[in-house]
Amino acid sequence: MLSALDARHLRSALLLARAAARAGEVPVGALVVGADGAVLARARNAARARADACAHAEVLALRRAARRARAPRLDGATLYVSLEPCLMCAGAAVAARVARVVFAARSPKFGALSAGGGAWLAAVPRALALECAEDAAAGEGAAAARAVAAEAARELGEFFARRRRAAAEAAAAAARVPAGGAEDTAARPLPTARAPARGA
Ligand SMILES: [Zn+2]
Repeated sequence: MLSALDARHLRSALLLARAAARAGEVPVGALVVGADGAVLARARNAARARADACAHAEVLALRRAARRARAPRLDGATLYVSLEPCLMCAGAAVAARVARVVFAARSPKFGALSAGGGAWLAAVPRALALECAEDAAAGEGAAAARAVAAEAARELGEFFARRRRAAAEAAAAAARVPAGGAEDTAARPLPTARAPARGA
């Protein structure tokens, strides 16, 4: 369900798209609105100007919003875009933990929603030679590549196991802290003493 505010943000995205067109770029504009309703970032396509195939409006807006939020995750944010996002941009929105993507025009050929990603999704296995070293059987580098794959997989597994253990230990430590105890309050530094408020 789209509100009047959603429509206003979509119109802002359209104005950014027009600016992209005037600059000789594919006309797409995007903005990121935080969970509190504040506009965190605006961007338009800049692939030509930046000589960057990834400089889609959505990616640029998500990057700016994350810099502003000083966090890679934009929990609860909404991404508004004048055109249905491609798979890269939809993936970027997922990685950024955006809660909602509202787009104006459908992109029947490249849209992430239309036809399940459409031509772009079909192009992944067709246009890319995707080779997994874990399955390497032929070629003089096969054995060495399989060894790298085994190390990479093991190290990633260890990383996530360490992170899960640390999270579990932190949760257990938090559960041990007596709620509202005077001693506990005195023992720990006040959060404000160490973390000055960040400017908006
Ligand atoms: Zn895109």
